[in-house]
Amino acid sequence: MPSTLIKNCTWLLTQNRKRDIMRDCSIMITDDIISAIGGRAMEGADFEIDGTGKIVLPGLINTHTHLSMVLLRGYADDMRLQDWLRNKIWPNEARLTPEACYQGAILGSAEMIMSGTTTFLDMYFNMEDVARAAKEVGLRAFLSYGIIDLFDATKAKVEQDKTRKFFEYIRDLGTSRVQFAVGPHAPYTCSPETLVWAKEFAEKNAVIDHIHVAETRKEQADFQKQHGLRVVEYLDKIGALTNRMLAAHCVWVTKSEVATLAKAGVNVGHCPVSNMKLASGGVAPLPEMFEAGIAVGLGTDGAASNNSLDMFDTMKVCALLHKAHRWDPTVLSAQKTLDLATIEGARALGLQNETGSIEVGKKADLIMLDMRSPNLNPIHGKDTVVSDLVYSASAANVDTTIVDGQVLMTKRQLRTINIEQTIQKVSRIAQGLVQT
Ligand SMILES: [Zn+2]
Repeated sequence: MPSTLIKNCTWLLTQNRKRDIMRDCSIMITDDIISAIGGRAMEGADFEIDGTGKIVLPGLINTHTHLSMVLLRGYADDMRLQDWLRNKIWPNEARLTPEACYQGAILGSAEMIMSGTTTFLDMYFNMEDVARAAKEVGLRAFLSYGIIDLFDATKAKVEQDKTRKFFEYIRDLGTSRVQFAVGPHAPYTCSPETLVWAKEFAEKNAVIDHIHVAETRKEQADFQKQHGLRVVEYLDKIGALTNRMLAAHCVWVTKSEVATLAKAGVNVGHCPVSNMKLASGGVAPLPEMFEAGIAVGLGTDGAASNNSLDMFDTMKVCALLHKAHRWDPTVLSAQKTLDLATIEGARALGLQNETGSIEVGKKADLIMLDMRSPNLNPIHGKDTVVSDLVYSASAANVDTTIVDGQVLMTKRQLRTINIEQTIQKVSRIAQGLVQT
């Protein structure tokens, strides 16, 4: 088995239960696993990476995105959500070919690797092509085909068949690094029968049930008008909630809905940048979710509503949003924010025993930031490293990204993606795609 030694890293943030921050240590990776954490004296690996001047931390976990949407990045901004979807996004998405989604996924993967993300949960279409891309680039991926039946039983059947086909495709892909999730798009685009079918499929096959919930005030108003229930009450009543569910957004939820989500063991993917950019209004009640014990991870959402896949950016915006919203700088600390992007994100995806922290026996998913940058100096000591990472660090500081023991980037050079070629291909696709 090949082994890699990260030698003499200056700082190591384990994000383990004790939130250990260590100085001058080395990490041994054997195959895909962290096999030892020790001092400077460690030796004897097949490959060595010099950790001098570097901060090592767990790879970031993006719990909600639409990877191939990078193709529509910056194309239609500063619009109202419904106009944006109806007039700009949906007509262009209808023109997306499998090849376009594949190239978009490669470009999005390059962006994630270069900004320190090692695991992501995706929802889109042409997912076989996204899966192919994820397998090639080396990221840890959970992929869902976005089911939309628009309350039509015939369409529901077609969508379920597509989901089953994709499930088999992933099973035959032959890598545990790329996994399937079932993806009912939202309670307002899927019939109750489909939502319950998705829940049962998730439970039967032990996979994530990935859905958008309560993103806008309009969604809540429509549900109250049509069903006399709030969205989470409706999902509870029809029997669609499950502890396998990762509900993106949950912006417009009451304390009572938070309690219902917690009781069902539902996990939340919080996307602060997208919520602010689309002016979804309101702010997801994170403190109440924490108190209720809900596992909350962070997500970027698609690049059409963010407009990047940068989790460093998302961490900072997240912390600032909640402080500004509650008039309370203590409401979301730097440490808690980093937790959301790492170990709590892992918990939200049911991966807390595999990834999200640097511990012996866990998967070797980690990133290294070069602290010899103006924006990361001075470092006053152990107590300020986490603040530096959340409030000062940027994607550009990420030097090395390792997933499953494989080095995907080092010295900011991508190892599994030809970025010049990808940018050329994506530019050509974008020229043919975007029409007004
Ligand atoms: Zn989304």
